[in-house]
Amino acid sequence: MEPDRKGFRGIWCLLLGFCLLAAMVLALCFWSSMKRPDIVGRKLTDEERAEVAARNSPLIDYIFLSPNADFPRGDSIKKLTIHHMAGDFGLEMIGANFSQRDRRASSNYAIDSSGRIALYVEESNRAWTSSSKENDDQAVTIEVANDETGGNWHVSDEAYEALIALCTDICRRNGIWRLDFTGNPEGSLTIHKMFSDKTECPGPYLESRMVEIAAAVNERLAKDREEEAQQ
Ligand SMILES: [Zn+2]
Repeated sequence: MEPDRKGFRGIWCLLLGFCLLAAMVLALCFWSSMKRPDIVGRKLTDEERAEVAARNSPLIDYIFLSPNADFPRGDSIKKLTIHHMAGDFGLEMIGANFSQRDRRASSNYAIDSSGRIALYVEESNRAWTSSSKENDDQAVTIEVANDETGGNWHVSDEAYEALIALCTDICRRNGIWRLDFTGNPEGSLTIHKMFSDKTECPGPYLESRMVEIAAAVNERLAKDREEEAQQ
């Protein structure tokens, strides 16, 4: 009888262990869904849109809030991280992509080839963009559409101009008064490939213009500060 009883006890222990694990997973899911605001993953009312826009960039043309994010981000905003879409996609399509929970991907903003700007993850939350929790906790991430597939992954002049304007606006509102591209994760302007050797994101074209982007943003920020000082 003894071995049978032992076997029985083993099965009960296993069952109990399984139940405990299931309870923990359920609790974790419940906890993370509790933290997720109810405005993510659905169409917003005009009033909600206005509220969300007021908390983020006034340059936004389109909003769809992705559930793929940490609510709120785990650090304060100190950086910007630039990505490319690896394609010429519309903002609505990227939004549909980021709405899929199993893709586990998102960005704070995206810019299409005509220079329109979308918001997917509010600045107060961490988007899942750069293969680095540490970076994305501190960074506002921006996806830029390519008007060339492959090669240098060129981006349109309209998208490039919108990128400078958006970067300047994010810096200004978040008290980043100087953007530095140091070529490594220490700088306040970072790129995806610094955090993963599996990607060339944001592609050769944008990468070659990072120093120039930082300089253009800094010039505008300095001008703003001068104007502020004169008032
Ligand atoms: Zn990327």
